[in-house]
Amino acid sequence: DEARQAYTARNPKSLTRHHEACEAMPGGNTRTTLHNSPFPLTVVRGEGCRLWDADGHEYIDVLGEYTAGIYGHSHPVIRAAIDRALNHGWNYGGRNANEAKLAKLVADRMPSIDLVRFTNSGTEGNVMALAGARVYAQRKGRTKATKVMVFHGGYHGGVLYFVSGGSPVNVPYEYIVAPYNDVEGTRALLAKHGEELFAVLLEPMQGSHGCLPGDIEFLKMVREESRARGITMIFDEVMTSRLSPGGLQEKTGVIPDMTTLGKYIGGGMSFGAFGGRRDIMELFDPTKPDHLPHAGTFNNNALTMAAGAAGYGEVYTPAAAKELNERGEKIRQRLNAICQREKVAFQFSGIGSMMTAHATSRPIKTAADIASGSQDAKELFFFDMMAAGIWIARRGFVALNIMIGDSEGDRFVAVVEEFVTARKALL
Ligand code: PLP
Repeated sequence: DEARQAYTARNPKSLTRHHEACEAMPGGNTRTTLHNSPFPLTVVRGEGCRLWDADGHEYIDVLGEYTAGIYGHSHPVIRAAIDRALNHGWNYGGRNANEAKLAKLVADRMPSIDLVRFTNSGTEGNVMALAGARVYAQRKGRTKATKVMVFHGGYHGGVLYFVSGGSPVNVPYEYIVAPYNDVEGTRALLAKHGEELFAVLLEPMQGSHGCLPGDIEFLKMVREESRARGITMIFDEVMTSRLSPGGLQEKTGVIPDMTTLGKYIGGGMSFGAFGGRRDIMELFDPTKPDHLPHAGTFNNNALTMAAGAAGYGEVYTPAAAKELNERGEKIRQRLNAICQREKVAFQFSGIGSMMTAHATSRPIKTAADIASGSQDAKELFFFDMMAAGIWIARRGFVALNIMIGDSEGDRFVAVVEEFVTARKALL
């Protein structure tokens, strides 16, 4: 309560902005994730790896727009690409030069992707991948295959959300919700429902659900069982594609049939994509008489295509991906070493540049381990981080950006160390 009161007292202008926002948006909000109690802060500026709020406080941004902000703020290469695009107009009603360039970069980097199509968001990418997989199964004569296997804790967008039994606004497929990282439990469900499933959709590391990495053994089992049963395996790499030059699929060696993408690949502009094996993606080939329609006014929007091609082609190169994820790995190791030294029930799970804080000492392997964490301790962590100038998600989520250097990394570690030692009695 004390931390919450201090937050309110420190942010009077953000509070006023919040009241204004409430006049025209439900709860003052247009993006549920960005709500936090007592009210979210308003950001007025970003530069490099820093953000400034309406009350003038400066932050090191370790949230990185939930992975979309991998380039930091106003990266000069991306900015120049957007400037060029702006100078040539941006609503053509026609193809533009950058879309094939970005598609080629994606297909070259992602092992599972022969062909790709763009969307406006990761959510849309997943919706289209499922639609494609469904028709693919039908055309292969798998007429009973009408269901999708997803995993408890999986997040694939606002309409594909599987925490606590799914969301009432989910796309109305029939879902079989399997236990993530449970090899035998999932194998049994695949055996029981194999005939009915046209797709299995999963994140190779669950991102929103607390950076829960998929065990290799589990991912391999899903790969083998889905292949044997003719079920399309879709990796949602909307967040995890950043974790190596060719995504988490390259790092784990588990190659799905289809992959969905989003976030930073559009250079920080609205973006999503779905792609995969040629024979599946050719369903969308408009030169074929029975092709599937996939429209979308902004699928190839000029600013995203320009920003994406510059960002993915010139900035987040394979070498940059290695460097960022090595930096993240080192930071997470340092944070966990501090937690262990202080013997607190606090830790950071994740891979490379993505991590999440958990107020528990149980190793993070399953949904139950995540649920065992103290929510109060995590909320306190959020308030303490924000008060110390570290911009982080309410749920303790961190996605590093390439503008973070040694001094900002050290500062982040030092602030967490202060938290762990000052709040030791509560952890
Ligand atoms: N899939 C995953 C794994 C995500 O983390 C997200 C967003 O956080 C999405 C899909 C949805 O992407 P978007 O918010 O662009 O619709």
